[in-house]
Amino acid sequence: MSSRITLLPDHVANQIAAGEVIQRPASVAKELLENAVDAGANSIQLIIKDAGKTLIQVIDNGIGMDSTDIRLAFERHATSKIKVAEDLFDLATKGFRGEALASIAAIAHVETHTKTENDEVSHCLKIEGSKVVEQTISTQPQGTSIAVKRLFYNIPARRNFLKSDTVELRHVIDEFHRVALAHPEIKFTFYNNGSELFDLPVDSLRKRIATVFGAKWENQLVPVEEKTSLVGLNGFIVKPIFAKKTRGQQFFFVNNRFIKSPFLHHAVTSAFEGLIKPGFHPGYFLYLIVDPKSIDINIHPTKTEVKFEEEQNLYAIIRASVKHSLGVFQVAPPLDFDKDPTMDLPYAYKNRTPNLPPIEVDSSFNPFKGEGNLFAKKIAPPAQWESLFTENIVEPPIEETLMPLLDVPQASRVFQLFSKYIVCPLKSQLLLINQTRAHQRILYERFLNAITNRKGQSQQLLFPQTMTLSPLQLEHFKQLHDIIEDLGFQVNLLGQQLEISGAPISCPVSKVTNTLETLLEEIDESSDSHFSQADQIAKALAKALAIKTGDVLQQEEQQALIDDFFGCKETVVSPFNRQIFITLDKTELDKKLNG
Ligand code: ADP
Ligand code: MG
Repeated sequence: MSSRITLLPDHVANQIAAGEVIQRPASVAKELLENAVDAGANSIQLIIKDAGKTLIQVIDNGIGMDSTDIRLAFERHATSKIKVAEDLFDLATKGFRGEALASIAAIAHVETHTKTENDEVSHCLKIEGSKVVEQTISTQPQGTSIAVKRLFYNIPARRNFLKSDTVELRHVIDEFHRVALAHPEIKFTFYNNGSELFDLPVDSLRKRIATVFGAKWENQLVPVEEKTSLVGLNGFIVKPIFAKKTRGQQFFFVNNRFIKSPFLHHAVTSAFEGLIKPGFHPGYFLYLIVDPKSIDINIHPTKTEVKFEEEQNLYAIIRASVKHSLGVFQVAPPLDFDKDPTMDLPYAYKNRTPNLPPIEVDSSFNPFKGEGNLFAKKIAPPAQWESLFTENIVEPPIEETLMPLLDVPQASRVFQLFSKYIVCPLKSQLLLINQTRAHQRILYERFLNAITNRKGQSQQLLFPQTMTLSPLQLEHFKQLHDIIEDLGFQVNLLGQQLEISGAPISCPVSKVTNTLETLLEEIDESSDSHFSQADQIAKALAKALAIKTGDVLQQEEQQALIDDFFGCKETVVSPFNRQIFITLDKTELDKKLNG
């Protein structure tokens, strides 16, 4: 008998990897732009057609590649940026996985021209779906040009999943912003369908922000600057009166790499507290320089998330620095000075030897260990980084319970209030969480993840359920069939009868048909102007299945909710943009009860 297990051929492995790294044209733009930056270019062009669906090309004047490197660049795990595992802890470049180009080449037609300083000629390589179709010599200037055409040509499901040009272009612009704002020392141009969208000369950061978002921005910015042994912080915050209703202009960069961090975001918003109207969001462009050894960028394949060693201290520093800037530049109403002792920083502060801000921080507190460990979940130690994404979120099978029951040893630390809030004492804060919104956030991310990665976890139903579809539902079902299966539903259509033999693990058995009904009823597939279909579906399901106000939760359910919640990528707002939690500071309490 022949062996059951075989190794996947490289082009198949690359296609699978591409599913993680390349979701849409914007992901290609991001990878190519970052490679150009890593190559030391000081001038980078981004050229796209039809929002990247037809062409995404990046031309740089960086170090280029020789005839060997151009071939190696498209091999999986081929990178010039790390050599040994230890290098992972000392990253100065944006890339390091060595899988972007291999992934892109597996799902598109890629034409590369590249020339190093020492080569007389440039080299050209054409690859289609991982297959090299041509390697020749060409006559291009020093640097690299990579053109990606016909993205997802061999994965029709992915291609069909792309949104309108407006939506896809928006995503490409977002990625472009992130790279352009991280590197004002590089000249960037960006063309879509032959017309110029951006022409950004080498500039100061303030000017770069203004050229990207519009000249009026220059006067809306207030500088932030701080230096401690832990972090160098600089950048700008937007004056509170210019706060926006959308969360558009919120940027954190760590060592010149754009990152998302709900935790640090909270540090900034809390500094703005009381200065902007409810429903408005502060704008900020904050640049952190930290020792590369103290961060782990490797926790997500698209690398927008980072783990910091001293998150609590960073939080305090950012909050205090932002408050300081708001105070120094007198953009805060004077009244506020009386209200918060952390604002009482002397104006000469800026010239003093840098110190940690006067905020109580327990330096022995390690947010990744032990009690009160909110942020440690799903962050594996760096040694296991390769397995991180194969393991993902593993949920225990459940039947009628709403929440998976996890074995978490902090049961006594949380409690439920008014069948509505979960109260969770932390080291120096009290956290009050809206249970519905938190659960919506958890479910939303889980479903979105299931759809994008096509691996929703399914539970078999003991007794298959059936439902009869209306003509409209039938139409929708045909369109959403793939997504429905990706979510974890196991379905079989016989005429108008839908037989359901399996359902997503987060969907209680009693709610299976209702949930499908909601899904088929509410999805308006024509409206992709704002939200993608996946986003809509994940939202609809999150809303339908989230625990409600009035639902009494067992102790373990509360704990599991908290744990799952803090494993979320975003923790500040629900999928419907509602605030999920508030905190009560020990300092505030002390003032009221102990002052
Ligand atoms: P990574 O960036 O993680 O190393 P990539 O697949 O993005 O992986 O790129 C593989 C390698 O190809 C890079 O390490 C680099 O050596 C080379 N490379 C890619 N793009 C460029 C470029 N624009 N200029 C020079 N070298 C490049
Ligand atoms: Mg790269």
